[in-house]
Amino acid sequence: MSELKERYAEAVMNTFGPPKLVLVRGEGAHVWDEDGNEYVDLLGGIAVNALGHAHPALVAAVSEQMQTLGHVSNFFATGPQVRLAERLLALASPDAGPREGRVFFANSGSEANEAALKATRRTGRTKLVSAAESFHGRTMGSLALTSKTAYREPFEPLPGDVTFVPYGDAAALAAVVDDDTAAVVLEPLQGEAGVNVPPPGYLAEARRITREHGALLWVDEVQTGIGRTGRWTAHDPALEPDLVTFAKGLAGGYPIGACVAFGEAGQLLGPGNHGTTFGGNPVAAAAALAVLDTVEAEGLLEHVRTLGAHLRDGLDHPHVVEVRGEGLLIGISLDAEVAPAAVAAAQDAGFIINATGPDRVRLAPPLVLTRADADAFLTAWPQILATAYEEGS
Ligand SMILES: *Cc1c(COP(=O)(O)O)cnc(C)c1O
Repeated sequence: MSELKERYAEAVMNTFGPPKLVLVRGEGAHVWDEDGNEYVDLLGGIAVNALGHAHPALVAAVSEQMQTLGHVSNFFATGPQVRLAERLLALASPDAGPREGRVFFANSGSEANEAALKATRRTGRTKLVSAAESFHGRTMGSLALTSKTAYREPFEPLPGDVTFVPYGDAAALAAVVDDDTAAVVLEPLQGEAGVNVPPPGYLAEARRITREHGALLWVDEVQTGIGRTGRWTAHDPALEPDLVTFAKGLAGGYPIGACVAFGEAGQLLGPGNHGTTFGGNPVAAAAALAVLDTVEAEGLLEHVRTLGAHLRDGLDHPHVVEVRGEGLLIGISLDAEVAPAAVAAAQDAGFIINATGPDRVRLAPPLVLTRADADAFLTAWPQILATAYEEGS
């Protein structure tokens, strides 16, 4: 074991298990470890490094903002914060026209969801509906909406009155939503579950059902938003959800979260109801604006759609049961429980990928991944699987 890994084990709390590598540098979709080995990063910090590593536009935006005005408290406004709120409202609005709304800035996906959760409480209702296999974060409130028993059980009782329904099943949703339901919270694709894709029309049905009962529809775009699926949002903004939360890819690696609340939902939290010291910090906001500008300037939405389709097609293999996803959020199911072995084999071959379950692999590479890097992985894929099946069985 390397010296730094030993020191990690003695100094850093063991919530993540032993680190796979010590990384020292990154550029584009490539990272290097402490021994000088190079990897193609097909995980992108878990759907975070939208522009890859050390993108000049992001480096310049963060450096310039830090040199100008790094942090103020929320007693004061800054230009980047206001501009980012306006941009998020626009990109989460339908093409037909901007929706009226308000944004709360936080520092992570969990915190964006905490803000949304607190907003739902101000409806006067407390019942929430979430989906099986959902992931909404690890803080107590966002954990209450997360289905995974292993994450929940050690921390029960969790706040709230949450009912879980099978994901993608509109009839199951209709059966539990009633006039006491404050909100239904759904991911447009379930990323942490290994990329579950609902049947077409599911979110539209969720909108119809929530509207019928005066409940809010809250779409968690923390993993899927900001170009990940080849669109600004994975859901169709024409559905007009009440709450949309963003985080992971929004500032390309600078910590940020955003809770976008449309229409009346934007008025649920008032002065004194919620707060944050760092949220909306001008550096984080400048980083996010640089990401949004670069996604536009480099035509990345189109690139993600094309390259994602190419990657998904090329992953086909006799051991691959299913390839799911949209754009550069891709889930792969294998026909045996060798996903961790596949992650290890890929790492040895110079590729960083991720296992979301015993037989499930996820790819969430930087949006700037090149065709050449994608092809290098597809070329290595059969041998990665061969090694995984040899070692894992
Ligand atoms: C990652 C994730 C979160 C939690 O975000 P953190 O920044 O880890 O708190 C919430 N919702 C979804 C859909 C996520 O993928």
